[in-house]
Order: sequence, then structure tokens, then C-alpha cells
Amino acid sequence: MLVDHGSRDAAFLAIDRRVRERLLAIAGGGVGHVCVPLQGSGTFAVEAMLGTLVPPGGRVLVLVNGAYGRRMATILSRIGRQPVVLETAEDTPAEPGEVARRLARDPALGHVAVVHCETTTGLLNPLADIARVASDHRRELLVDAMSSFGALAVDAAALAATAVAASANKCLEGVPGMGFVIADRARLAAAAGNAPSLSLDLHDQQAAYLATGQWRFTPPTHVIAALDSALEAHAAEGGVAGRGARYARNCAVLVAGMRRLGFRTVLPDALQAPIIVTFDSPDHPEFAFERFYDGLQRRGYVIYPGKLTRRESFRIGCIGQLGEAQMRGVAAAAAETLAEMGVTLAG
Ligand SMILES: *Cc1c(COP(=O)(O)O)cnc(C)c1O
Repeated sequence: MLVDHGSRDAAFLAIDRRVRERLLAIAGGGVGHVCVPLQGSGTFAVEAMLGTLVPPGGRVLVLVNGAYGRRMATILSRIGRQPVVLETAEDTPAEPGEVARRLARDPALGHVAVVHCETTTGLLNPLADIARVASDHRRELLVDAMSSFGALAVDAAALAATAVAASANKCLEGVPGMGFVIADRARLAAAAGNAPSLSLDLHDQQAAYLATGQWRFTPPTHVIAALDSALEAHAAEGGVAGRGARYARNCAVLVAGMRRLGFRTVLPDALQAPIIVTFDSPDHPEFAFERFYDGLQRRGYVIYPGKLTRRESFRIGCIGQLGEAQMRGVAAAAAETLAEMGVTLAG
């Protein structure tokens, strides 16, 4: 990131090409898909995916069990598509059987949109089962794999996904500033003119690549260079399997340490993805989240400053350049902070 690359310079374009190839390889590397990167945060990529690959007026079954599923429905409404929301509770995975019934009943539903790991709680949705249902009913599948890509297997070809959206700065451990969409090559080529936005048009973004080998508008060069290094580290760790194994250990150590203090997880272990863990706020008169947050921060641990869930809770991430030592450390810091607050939890 300390090098200023020219965004149209051959040296930069070589880095950029390598990044796109590596991202595609992580997504299964099928020849039927392409990787289209896009400036902005992850939501920009999700909005570009929905706007480009769902035609105007298109009806989409959106599986919602948290804030990110709800955000996809909001985007679809905003851009003149028709979201049909199939909602389950925040601690309940999307239900493939019910998806099948909805698709059978409503032939106008052209797409199914699902969040792989719903980061609101850390819940893992049954992506492979939902993909099979969509495919059996010949509907297109759109996946928000933002918080799972790189740590959990997401094979775009095996899922027969029309598109999978993710970003540089979660399990890939790059810096923030760009997302990308792994898109079905033929469906993307057929999506000309769909997008309601000029800058969020993945079809035109890819067309520019094909024509010039370059980004259509100024690329985030430093972010791409950082992602190149992050992808090298990802490969050195053993790719998706290696990274996923480290996060799974992080998650297990974190949950065990917090349970020892008397904290309870919102999700049962069977539904928990090894990405982020939501704990119920203790029902104790002296427990105040702001004081808890500050206590952890003073000890060097920054957790998520707030909740997305409907119930009183807080979240601690398992991802990033962290290992078991940091997970034990955050539990120790939580113990000290509870003592400082005068809170003793049963357990
Ligand atoms: C992080 C995340 C996003 C994108 O969030 P941004 O703040 O726009 O980067 C989208 N979906 C899921 C599931 C996420 O975890």
C-alpha cells in the first residue's frame, strides 16, 4: 500500500489480474463464472449484483433472518424490483422446504436471494440445500457471502449460483474499500441495460474489462495491492480450509471462555458459523454495555459497538489476524471488566 500504482499501468494491471484470478479460484474456479470487482464497501457489491442480475420489475424471494437479508429486500424495493420476503426468526435458519413451496406456488419468482452467514447473529444458513431447491425449480440464486467467503466453502459452480457477492475486508483479511461479485458468465453477458445505476452496473464493468483489461472508473489501487498480499497469506495458510480451521478454533475458544464466565450465546452451537458470536446481554442490574465495551477497549480488545439483533445482545468477531491467544485474552479482559463493574454471573 506504500506504492502509488498508476491505475492504467501494466504493473498494476498484472496485480489486478492476479487478484481476480485468485478470487475466482477461491469461489471454485469454474470457467462458467467471472470475478467482477467493484469500488466501495460490501453493500455496493450486493446492490450491484441485485441491480444488474435481476431485471427491472423482477420478483425475488428474499430469505431474511437478520439485518443483511432485510437490506437486500430494501435494495430491491429501492431499485424497482419486487422482493418477496420469506422471514424466519433471527435464531432460525432459512427453511429449504418452505422455499420450495413458495417457488412452486409463485412462478413469477425468478430469483432466490440468500445470505450465507447472517452476520447479525453469526447464523449459518443452509446454502447448499437452498441452492439445490432453487436449481430444482430452475430459479436463479443470488448469494451474499460477505462474511463467509474465504473461510467457508462457497463454490459458485457447484451451487449453480448466478452470483455471489463478497468483499476484501472480512475473511480475506484485506483492507476495506472494494467488493466483488462472482457472476455466471452467460447471465452477466445477458444483463446489459438492467442496472438502474451507471456506476453499479456489473455488466458494463465487465464489458470494460473485456475491452480494455482495465477497471472502468478509477480503481482503489492501494486496496487491490493490499488484497493481493492478503490473498497470498490466505493461500499460505492453506486457503479456505486453513483459514476456516483457524476461525473455528477461535470461535470454540471464545465461546468456551465466555461460557465459563456465565455468558450465554444467542445461537446453539449447531447453527453457529465460526465468524462472529452473539452473546445475550447479562440480565444483571450492574451490567451496562458501554462500560463493558470501554473496559474491553482499555485492555486492547475492540468488539462490535452495538447490536443488530432484536434482543439485547453484543457480538464478538472470530475473524481477522487473530488466534487462540487473542480469544483467551478477550475472555480474560471480559472477566476483569465484569469484576470492575461488580457483576457476577451465574454459571
Ligand atoms: C459486512 C456485510 C455486508 C456489507 O457490509 P458493508 O458495511 O457494506 O461492507 C453485507 N452482508 C453481510 C452478510 C455482511 O456481513
